[in-house]
Amino acid sequence: MYHLIFVVKIKNNMRVCIFGSGLSSLTLAKALVNQKIYVDVIDRKKVANINYSRTLGISKSNVDFFNDYIVDIRKNIWKLRKIEIFTDNLKKEKLLNFENNNEQLFSIVKNHEIYEILDKSLSNNKYFKKIYSSNTISYLNNYDLAINTDYLNQINIKYFNKKISKKYNSFAFTTIIRHKNILNKTAVQIFTKYGPLAFLPISNNETSIVYSIHNLKNKNKINVKELIQKYNFKYDIKKIEKIESFELKSFSLRSYSHANILAFGDLLHKVHPLAGQGFNMTIRDIKILLDIIKEKINLGLPLDSSVSDQFEKKLRHKNFIFSNSIDLIHEFFNFERKLKSNILSKSVKALGKNPSVNKLFTKIADRGVLF
Ligand SMILES: Cc1cc2nc3c(=O)[nH]c(=O)nc-3n(C[C@H](O)[C@H](O)[C@H](O)COP(=O)(O)OP(=O)(O)OC[C@H]3O[C@@H](n4cnc5c(N)ncnc54)[C@H](O)[C@@H]3O)c2cc1C
Repeated sequence: MYHLIFVVKIKNNMRVCIFGSGLSSLTLAKALVNQKIYVDVIDRKKVANINYSRTLGISKSNVDFFNDYIVDIRKNIWKLRKIEIFTDNLKKEKLLNFENNNEQLFSIVKNHEIYEILDKSLSNNKYFKKIYSSNTISYLNNYDLAINTDYLNQINIKYFNKKISKKYNSFAFTTIIRHKNILNKTAVQIFTKYGPLAFLPISNNETSIVYSIHNLKNKNKINVKELIQKYNFKYDIKKIEKIESFELKSFSLRSYSHANILAFGDLLHKVHPLAGQGFNMTIRDIKILLDIIKEKINLGLPLDSSVSDQFEKKLRHKNFIFSNSIDLIHEFFNFERKLKSNILSKSVKALGKNPSVNKLFTKIADRGVLF
């Protein structure tokens, strides 16, 4: 009896392109080149828009995924073991408290550091190429699968203009405070009467600040440094670095794909920063996209519009629910502020004391609603 074994080796010369070169683009590019897929990143401009006062809170399961499938960021993260939430409405009482047996809950990393690590690791990768051109549309026919992360290019204007959007009438102010050394492993979020204010530790003597201030028509009319000092109850502040501001909007695209073009990153779902979930959603999207792509490669199938169709089917509804739940938190505190009552906060406080509910909140923040 003869056993015939056929070994079929699929020649892997798959090539995709990604438009835009922000954080989502480079993270996805690195995930793909790690799978030996050729990636061309095409951008309109040579200088990326990277911010030096911003940090990212990344959940534990996403940090693990990043280290295993993208690039090792263990040396750059500051691990947090506890998150405490306060509200002006309950004076100095704690509203919620999240911790998990002194384990890492979230990690904070500086935006520019993670960007530089990705950029460096891609620059000498043989599967990676960067192209600069303002005529992005002319490149579309060269690829079976194109991914767009840039909301100012011609592709976005032409194919991805239908979205459900919301303007918060708010600005997010970000900075870094330098303070005396303390054991700095607890993040604090205060729902102040002006909007949510987060203190996010990045070392024992530095803490990043994200203050989203609502109903603000003129951002120059508010003294953010004074408000940070007013609400700070923990740090002996030596210096508050330059304050940067961003207008806050949220939106979800109605359709994730057009022919062989898939929209990606903040372009798909931009959310309010109060829960620190924007980039976390993109990392979860990358996990799913990578699974779809790996399956196609294993079956010897091309990477084409079927990838974007499958991705959209799997994720659009889940992401929509998740984005809306973040908006709901924002509206909840807004509503209570307008009510001038603390009844809602008191109910949330009582609910948060229940260990199963608290565990559920922690899991949702770590993994996303339905993952
Ligand atoms: C204040 C704040 C705090 C945040 N904190 C967290 C957090 O803790 N955790 C978390 O998970 N997420 C957080 N986010 C969300 C996170 O920063 C975004 O999800 C992420 O940076 C999006 O990256 P992106 O590449 O998709 O989009 P972008 O960075 O917008 O880039 C997309 C493309 O557009 C181009 N582009 C962008 N802006 C301009 C411009 N002005 N002019 C020209 N071109 C431009 C870029 O170069 C790039 O090609 C926060 C957001 C804000 C505003």
